[in-house]
Amino acid sequence: MPKSCILYVIVPCYNEEAVLPVSAPVFLRKLQEMTEKKLISDDSRILFVNDGSSDRSWEMICSLAKQDRHYTGISQSRNRGHQNAVLAGLMEAKDRCDITISIDCDGQDDPDAMEEMVKRYTEGYEIVYGVRNRRDTDSFFKRFTAESFYRMLAHMGVEVIFNHADYRLLSNRVLNELAGFREVNIYLRGMIPLIGFRSTEVVYERRERLAGKSHYTLREMLGLAFDGITSLSIRPIRMIATLGVLVSFLSIVLIVWSVLQFFAGNTVPGWTSLCAIVCMIGGIQLISLGVIGEYIGKIYLEAKARPRYIISDRTEMPPLADRTGGEPGDGVNADGCEAVDADAP
Ligand code: UDP
Ligand code: MG
Repeated sequence: MPKSCILYVIVPCYNEEAVLPVSAPVFLRKLQEMTEKKLISDDSRILFVNDGSSDRSWEMICSLAKQDRHYTGISQSRNRGHQNAVLAGLMEAKDRCDITISIDCDGQDDPDAMEEMVKRYTEGYEIVYGVRNRRDTDSFFKRFTAESFYRMLAHMGVEVIFNHADYRLLSNRVLNELAGFREVNIYLRGMIPLIGFRSTEVVYERRERLAGKSHYTLREMLGLAFDGITSLSIRPIRMIATLGVLVSFLSIVLIVWSVLQFFAGNTVPGWTSLCAIVCMIGGIQLISLGVIGEYIGKIYLEAKARPRYIISDRTEMPPLADRTGGEPGDGVNADGCEAVDADAP
């Protein structure tokens, strides 16, 4: 283990012009503090990932990069979503650092927990999960939906850390293994535990957003929940098969029962109940087809294997040669902010 390791703090940003000027100096201060304590090397960086923002976020990142060499940034060619933005940052940092810590841009995750995470790394842990100790600052609705979601995932056989979002430390070894996960439907919270290695948790306090507002609407949260399950578990398909067996059994019971009624001379008067059953079975079939369709859709996307992110711009970045002896000067350009060739991982 290197004495003082290079840390890259990965910060996904989507339309965060309101919060960037507030949170960026907080991250930098934390980085400097850890450097002074010799926990990390002075070559550590804060890597902003602009996720196709339509506001001035990228311009701000560029001007931050010019102010202090510890700020760097990459920009995605369009909005691809939080998970892809984090992955793009991790892969960009992979060959330049010993460890990464991914953290949201809005200051909701306590930056002080980073120090604790790095200490855990020096103790030999390769993955350190940031776990929220309470969710008081979230609305009741958000708290309830998030907690139900974790429970449902666990129920579906997806291994997730309770109350852990995307605030986590990953070692270089873990990043290299993560690079081998080629799926297009990314749900990092479910993927990282699959990598293995020694892992631990650091508890932190979840705060209010420093500025701006959340990008996750109910629809997006449901979408993430659905993706999380269908990307990592086939249990819903098995549940459908079980349901099919149960419904078939029920219909056999009903047939036997109605034949018995016929011979007993009791014709069944209620055709509405019959209609209800037909509707119920029809409904179950449609839902089942929908779930199976969701999996086929995922297979379709995976089969196409499109790039998971496309980087259109970079600020000045330390050369890859620093760590790997690979191509130096990758993505570096004169004024630090001009477009370089699109990068397909
Ligand atoms: N984010 C992103 N792309 C998106 C949506 C969000 O990179 O399409 C970033 C956002 O800038 C923030 C983080 O993901 O740094 C978490 O988003 P947000 O704070 O809106 O979510 P919440 O904390 O409310 O779950
Ligand atoms: Mg947030």
